[in-house]
Amino acid sequence: MTGPGAGEGAAERELADEHARFEFDDAAYLLDALEPEQREAFEGHLSRCPVCRDRVAEFGDLPRVLARADISAWVPESPPDTLLPRLLRQVTASRRRRAWRIGSLAAAAACLLALLATGAVLGWQNAHRPQTLAMQPVGSNAVGVHATVQLVGSDSSPRVKLACGYAGGSGGYPRRADTSYRMMIFNHRGERVDLGSWTPQPDEDVQITRTSPWPRSSISRIEVFDDRGEPVLRLRL
Ligand SMILES: [Zn+2]
Repeated sequence: MTGPGAGEGAAERELADEHARFEFDDAAYLLDALEPEQREAFEGHLSRCPVCRDRVAEFGDLPRVLARADISAWVPESPPDTLLPRLLRQVTASRRRRAWRIGSLAAAAACLLALLATGAVLGWQNAHRPQTLAMQPVGSNAVGVHATVQLVGSDSSPRVKLACGYAGGSGGYPRRADTSYRMMIFNHRGERVDLGSWTPQPDEDVQITRTSPWPRSSISRIEVFDDRGEPVLRLRL
């Protein structure tokens, strides 16, 4: 069959297929729990799909309602503000093929607040705290510079959290005040990707977090280079 009717039908089917891939992402989107790529993809879908647009518009106030809930008064120390998104990511990662509706999300948030009140989540956090790995110095370039790395998030799309600091005293702080450092990530095929640079600040660890371009199992090492392109610190995984 040809003609405008057939084209419209195909476009409709295409949108329905697309909707089936995204229909459970609205709750996580509202709570800002999607990874950047997922978020971008979902926003693309939103621009085409009136069903998802209506859902998001209907429940758009929920994050503000949750943000107003003062949980800091209920727990010994404030939980990190990434806790709820992380829990949601875990839930969405293992979601079943049934609607993860906003009602159950609100119930989950209420349960989370109750758990925080009892401190149960603090124990859970300790059990799931990512390992902190110290980067090793390479040659003599690393004098005074130290860094640790944590891989956080899912194994399929981990984030690299790097904390880089400088020892005090004459031997410590980089020789030139304008020295900048750059983090590179390598995979087992020998490919590498630049994860960005930073300029040291005295008396302060610089923290940068970047999403790995590869799954955790593909990462072979992470290195820090100085602005002459010399490796300074290395972490083999
Ligand atoms: Zn949709």
